[in-house]
Amino acid sequence: MRTGYDACDRVPLLANIAGPGEVAAAVAAGAEGVGLFRTEFLFLGGGDRPPSEEEQAAAYREVLAAFPEGRVVVRVLDAGADKPLPFLTPGDEPNPALGVRGLRALLAHPGVLDTQLGARARAAEGLPVSLAVMAPMVADRADARAFADACRAAGLHVPSGVMVEIPAAALRARALLREAAFLSLGTNDLAQYAFAADRQVGAVARYQDPWQPALLDLVALAAEAAGAEGKGCGVCGEAAADPLLACVLTGLGVTSLSMGAAAIPAVRAALARHTLARCERAAAAARATDDAEQARTAAHGILSDP
Ligand code: PEP
Ligand code: MG
Repeated sequence: MRTGYDACDRVPLLANIAGPGEVAAAVAAGAEGVGLFRTEFLFLGGGDRPPSEEEQAAAYREVLAAFPEGRVVVRVLDAGADKPLPFLTPGDEPNPALGVRGLRALLAHPGVLDTQLGARARAAEGLPVSLAVMAPMVADRADARAFADACRAAGLHVPSGVMVEIPAAALRARALLREAAFLSLGTNDLAQYAFAADRQVGAVARYQDPWQPALLDLVALAAEAAGAEGKGCGVCGEAAADPLLACVLTGLGVTSLSMGAAAIPAVRAALARHTLARCERAAAAARATDDAEQARTAAHGILSDP
């Protein structure tokens, strides 16, 4: 039963989608909007040229139309590393995850970025939806500024945010927020880069555990910076889909949680059982430990109290 002061009241639950085909499930699960619209589907398998502005606008509009009252955060293309795209990303890098990927690839191909942003401006025309855009793989303030400049140049006057996926971005989140309207924590990549452990290599999978206290520390840094600036800081990595961890993330100060639609009901139920103060206690207890298992156990101890 909702208490009127539970943690759900603090954080909207949003859906991660990878194309218009996933909208129906998100709506059915009660998503309040889309926290991460991955747009790679438009580019992968499409041959050797990027889709036109019209093709992209049609796909974006389909998603925007499904959430007339909610916010839809559309990410610009995240090519490279685990999402290679031959016409955008170099094929001969020794470490593609550390190379020209994400925003770096788009800044090297400004025409592709401009078309993506122009398509968004066109898609939102005449719709009441609250559109936002964000960039993946932002490392520093110069990256954040380059993205904000590109949005302005494309005539896109909607909030433009940055993903925090690189530890440097979490450490200097306040500087990024001089350029960006909001932060969105990509905990999958943030774990990969914090632990120097390739997310695609099973032998180092234990470092991908989002309960790692070091990862929680980075989340806390970003959330604190956003709170100090009066701006939003969401989580859109897999971490948000774990009901217990969702309570801890809320306690760390994140302001929205975005996840695969299937996870939304369980996360909503978990948050509804706790006050924000209890989530904060669980977050502090998890951060006071030295490994992922201890962190999970500490949080569970606090969140399972009647
Ligand atoms: C992430 O890195 O956590 C994220 C949400 O982006 P992707 O998984 O698409 O790299
Ligand atoms: Mg990522």
